[in-house]
Amino acid sequence: MSAAAEPALAERLARAIALGGPIPVSQFMAAANAHYYATRDPLGAGGDFTTAPEISQMFGELIGAWAADLWDRAGRPAVAWVELGPGRGTLTADALRVMARAGLTPPVHLVETSPTLRQAQAGRVAHATWHDTLATLPEDVPLIVVANEFFDALPIRQLVRAAGGWHERLVACQDTLFLPIAGASIPETIIPPTLRAAAPGSIIETSPASVAIMADLSARLVAQGGAALVIDYGYDGPAIGDTLQAVRGHAYANPFAEPGEVDLTAHVDMATLGLVATASGARLSGTIGQGAFLRALGIDQRAAALGPRVAADRARLVEEMGELFRVIAVSHPHWPQPAGFA
Ligand code: SAH
Repeated sequence: MSAAAEPALAERLARAIALGGPIPVSQFMAAANAHYYATRDPLGAGGDFTTAPEISQMFGELIGAWAADLWDRAGRPAVAWVELGPGRGTLTADALRVMARAGLTPPVHLVETSPTLRQAQAGRVAHATWHDTLATLPEDVPLIVVANEFFDALPIRQLVRAAGGWHERLVACQDTLFLPIAGASIPETIIPPTLRAAAPGSIIETSPASVAIMADLSARLVAQGGAALVIDYGYDGPAIGDTLQAVRGHAYANPFAEPGEVDLTAHVDMATLGLVATASGARLSGTIGQGAFLRALGIDQRAAALGPRVAADRARLVEEMGELFRVIAVSHPHWPQPAGFA
């Protein structure tokens, strides 16, 4: 299916660049990922990459237990379950099973733009309502929201330091080759003061799309009640670093080659997302490493109960991914403190 579409996106981008000049990295990443996710299920052994819920059912189950505990301590109100970028729907399916045992059977709302992945989700979650954006989510009940490896797929801007100052990083096209270049100069006042004197070649990333979604989400949680759990490959920024990366067939690829045929991600600036949340009046928990978070929720006991066949999966979630993946929770200021952050 993607074979026919592949030249179309690269050609479309090449033509746009030929006509209008080089485009911002954010525009390139948004177009590439929209095409990528719309045309395939990228997850699992036969795909391009794998994620925590696909590694083990323990991941979604522990998040279900986290949600049920929070809901119970909040007084068992009517709530809606929301997942942002649910992939195959595995996390929600695993979480729902555990929540049901605790008496929590919320309506399910999935924010997903990919028609291919919506179909995969429908196969695992029986009754769900799909949304293109957060705008159409219910407004009359508290929301329990989970976003695992969602923010890292959203477009980033890159600012690159040259000898004389900072520039927006753009993508140019020469023949059929896409390549990053320094574009127009940007005022130094938008660069955090501690980073302004960085060496030439340094890159700073920002994700206006992520900030906008977190602002929207926090405002809703403050108005409606509830909590959101965000888990991603992350750092506490702003910081110097080029984290734009491409993955194909479980190996790194050139992020500027074959737009729409490789998975493009960038590390998530958790500190900035947290600042956006607290500025809206929400409570912030974390950041904490995924390993410490899952341990606090009882992954060791769960793994012991399931036996030796899950030992390698536990190690992958807690040790391999334990520090690189970061967790924050954003919640209504009067809701109980979410578990897992002590
Ligand atoms: N959370 C899943 C999948 C991660 S992959 C897991 O952990 O396995 C990223 C997911 O976000 C995919 O479902 C992709 O289709 C979705 N996605 C990417 N960009 C999106 C956007 N702008 N709006 C909604 N969903 C998006």
